[in-house]
Amino acid sequence: MDHQARLHRLLLEFERRKIDALLVTHLPNVRYLCGFTGGAGILLAGHRSVFFTDGRYSEQARSEVHGARVVIGKGPTLATAARQISRTRIVRLGIEADRLTVAMCSQLATELGKGIKLVPVTGVIETLRMIKQPAEIEAIRDAVNLAARLFRPLLRGIHPGVPETTVAARLEYMARRAGAQAMSFETIVASGPRSALPHGIASTAPIARNGFVVLDYGVILNGYCSDMTRTVYAGKAGEEERALYRAVLEAQLAAITAVTPGSPAGEVDEAARSVLKRARLAKFFTHSTGHGVGLEVHELPRLAARQEQVLQPGMVVTVEPGVYLPGRCGIRIEDMVLVTERGFEVLTPATKDLLEL
Ligand code: ZN
Ligand code: ZN
Repeated sequence: MDHQARLHRLLLEFERRKIDALLVTHLPNVRYLCGFTGGAGILLAGHRSVFFTDGRYSEQARSEVHGARVVIGKGPTLATAARQISRTRIVRLGIEADRLTVAMCSQLATELGKGIKLVPVTGVIETLRMIKQPAEIEAIRDAVNLAARLFRPLLRGIHPGVPETTVAARLEYMARRAGAQAMSFETIVASGPRSALPHGIASTAPIARNGFVVLDYGVILNGYCSDMTRTVYAGKAGEEERALYRAVLEAQLAAITAVTPGSPAGEVDEAARSVLKRARLAKFFTHSTGHGVGLEVHELPRLAARQEQVLQPGMVVTVEPGVYLPGRCGIRIEDMVLVTERGFEVLTPATKDLLEL
């Protein structure tokens, strides 16, 4: 990964944001800019970048960090960073406003003293991260493919009466055996009436006979996340259930087709919503259509109503409309999609036919 180029692109933003340096405290942003993958560290990004961590990470920092001097502090890392910053000529220090706690912020202000002004900045690194470089796209492809390969074996363990947590446990075991660093988020296995919970994290409830099962999961590989959802049927689906599934699939395909460089993200959301409106299901589609994915599972851009962010080649987003009938059932279908020069490429290879188990 070309950390130097990323830091350089960040520096170009400093003038517009009226800052001399940016104190990067959000770990995925730290990793993005200098390569550090550990659990504690702060990057002072500027014309002379400095990375601060503590003794636990000295080896790791020295081997991983690029483009920044490494300082190993004794006490809390924020205090180490503040001491160093107060010795520089920085006057306006950018802070990640939506990442720093109130306590950290007041500690910083106290330690830095009156000569340095803290300037709240939001989304500057997150905006750079939206456009993935070729190496990032390859890492994402690997994570997507690993997760998709587990889909068929996962289905073999789904039977009425088996607890949802057992289904999730099998999946997570297979994922780790296949080399995943971790799951991207808590695995969703939601069966029967629980499928109507858009965020139905696996519970001890048994898989219901004759009902949908929503399976939403992803893995992290080389730091990059994947995210996919398939909805299968335990038993034989009735005509009404098939029609619901078809409507969600049609909405998902329409939204994917709307992924075009140059068009606003809101149009993808609108494409899914208008299909469901025609099927009189729009009021049951209670979340947005998708989100960016990368070092974190939820990144920019947001594919939601009225989002004006223009889609650009190199963005990787999910497309995941769903329909949830409270107390009855729910269906969601989610793929990861790459925005290309000409349109889109669906990255998730798993089938979207309605599978009956
Ligand atoms: Zn998902
Ligand atoms: Zn998602």
